[in-house]
Amino acid sequence: MPTTNNQRPTTRIGYGWDSHEFKRGIPLKIGGVTIAHPKGLGGHSDGDVLLHAITDALLGAIAGPDIGSLFPPSDPQWKGADSVVFLREALKRVQAAGYVVANLDSTLILVEPKIGPHAAIIRAHVAELLGISPNAVGIKAKTPEGMGTDNAAIAHVAVLLEKVARASRKKKGTG
Ligand SMILES: [Zn+2]
Repeated sequence: MPTTNNQRPTTRIGYGWDSHEFKRGIPLKIGGVTIAHPKGLGGHSDGDVLLHAITDALLGAIAGPDIGSLFPPSDPQWKGADSVVFLREALKRVQAAGYVVANLDSTLILVEPKIGPHAAIIRAHVAELLGISPNAVGIKAKTPEGMGTDNAAIAHVAVLLEKVARASRKKKGTG
């Protein structure tokens, strides 16, 4: 019989969602990649809608606090912050909970710019940030038909975490 220490589930799912409004004259960052475009995403931090949704998906998967609780938009220290900082904190918590990212899937919803030409570089960058293979990162994009959100970018993200196998736990008498 497994001991109570070994009762953590083998896998956990996480889901995150975010949206930001386009504003003229600021850089556009999606997935940590700067994309040439006349408008960027405004709001708290650098407005990286994809990294925010990934961060919330990771935190959700371990039933942790959400991104707004950890990094309140009202706190001036996060104004213009690089969203990679948020992602790294979420990843640290995932690792501390004993998990690694198995794979991630995302859908971006925005009118422009077209994500297709940038998808490969975004996929590679997100994979590098998470320490996983680009083959484990899905980047999809759609236009917001009939949603009335033409001046916004929206991101949906699902992640799957896997429990880390720990060989050192096999020691007798420690369970
Ligand atoms: Zn956000």
